Amino acid sequence: MVEAHLNGVRNAAATGWRVLERGGSSLDAVEEAVVVMEDDETFDAGRGSFLNHDGKVQLDALIMDGATLRAGGVGCVERLRNPVRAARKILSESPHVYFVAQGAEQFAAAHGLPLCKNEDLILPREVERLREYRSHLEEHRADLFAPTISHDTVGAVALDRDGNIAAATSTGGTLNKAPGRLGDSSLIGCGCYADNLSAAASTTGWGEPIMKLVLAKWAADRVESGSMPEWVAQEAMNYLKQRVNGHGGIILLDARGRFGIAHNTPRMAWATRTTQNQEAGIQRNGANGGFTSAI
Ligand code: ASP
Repeated sequence: MVEAHLNGVRNAAATGWRVLERGGSSLDAVEEAVVVMEDDETFDAGRGSFLNHDGKVQLDALIMDGATLRAGGVGCVERLRNPVRAARKILSESPHVYFVAQGAEQFAAAHGLPLCKNEDLILPREVERLREYRSHLEEHRADLFAPTISHDTVGAVALDRDGNIAAATSTGGTLNKAPGRLGDSSLIGCGCYADNLSAAASTTGWGEPIMKLVLAKWAADRVESGSMPEWVAQEAMNYLKQRVNGHGGIILLDARGRFGIAHNTPRMAWATRTTQNQEAGIQRNGANGGFTSAI
């Protein structure tokens, strides 16, 4: 599905860019970019996500505004096509930062977002993937503690004309995860972070090690200390591997427009758009696994 991933991140970057071009905020841009990828069944976000142990889709998302440090997150939601929209409502309209499960769905519905059935988020492709995975559970035993095949989280970072940065991350989490398991993606500072004084970051990959290192904040702090995002992104991947034997990817952007993209996985699809140029890419070395982010 390499082409599908590339198309998806290109579409997301183009949509985010249109928001910025009209003078929209980085917060709006990352929300809209992530919605495109949640709506795209290619990715592990929104409809088409990996299924949990109970055969359900359970979604997590976070969005954060680097100008104000306001953030909104949802965890373990089962009835939202676009969890990032609920996260944005929390950021904009709630004194709280984080809602989970039914409380998050109730908050979303009360703020005008439609609820769907969990079945509406499930693709036959994913039912088959779960069935196949579970029929080879013995072979996958090692994978339970270091999943390598189930990463396809989406994320976006953006800088707007007012000099503000923002980040958003959305995921269906890992294949066959236990119901109620929350990954890194929607945890502030782990799968997503934004502060104008340091950087905006979104991560993907095996969530438990990323959480232990609070990796998005770790990377942002290094940018604040003066390191280049390009270098820090690579350092974050080295740290993830060396410290906790983790794997994943990161997109990182500072308020000067300097950015870094790195992963220690076989592939990660990415797209960039700046006033100077646009680019997209994916790396592959033939191994399993896809990781996805747009920048
Ligand atoms: N980081 C996500 C999680 O652990 C999975 C992914 O990136 O695909 O929930």
